[in-house]
Amino acid sequence: MTQRTLVLIKPDAVRRGLVGDVLSRYEAKGLTLVAMELRSIDAQLADTHYAEHVDQPWYPPLREFAVSGPLVALVLEGDEAISVVRALNGATDGRVAAPGTVRGDLSLSNRENLVHASDSEESAAREMALWFPNL
Ligand code: ADP
Ligand code: MG
Repeated sequence: MTQRTLVLIKPDAVRRGLVGDVLSRYEAKGLTLVAMELRSIDAQLADTHYAEHVDQPWYPPLREFAVSGPLVALVLEGDEAISVVRALNGATDGRVAAPGTVRGDLSLSNRENLVHASDSEESAAREMALWFPNL
């Protein structure tokens, strides 16, 4: 089933010059780039994007991280794109994510873990409407 998913290449990846590396993994997999934008966000957009996490004790530093510099928002399309991109990204905590994944290869942190990807069709629809309302 063809799906679309919302991906964020987070500020740590932009700072570290890893945008091209991350993007090339998605392209090499065969996913299609549907939309992409470099942008800086404010706390309000961070809170809306991470609505399910705002009450977590680790959310305030996550918000600080999310607004700490530009990020790249994109929409990818392809067969089973939602689960495929989650698998390419790897487990949330870069310290335990499997080698071969974005986080497993390039992150040593459970916060600064380089990427976000929608985790369900419902999340993808909500997040694409939030980040790319004109798509
Ligand atoms: P994922 O991005 O893999 O879907 P979650 O939705 O659980 O992970 O968490 C959202 C983001 O919050 C993570 O990508 C990470 O940046 C951060 N995060 C999650 N858990 C923690 C934690 N225990 N401590 C610090 N940051 C966390
Ligand atoms: Mg999540």
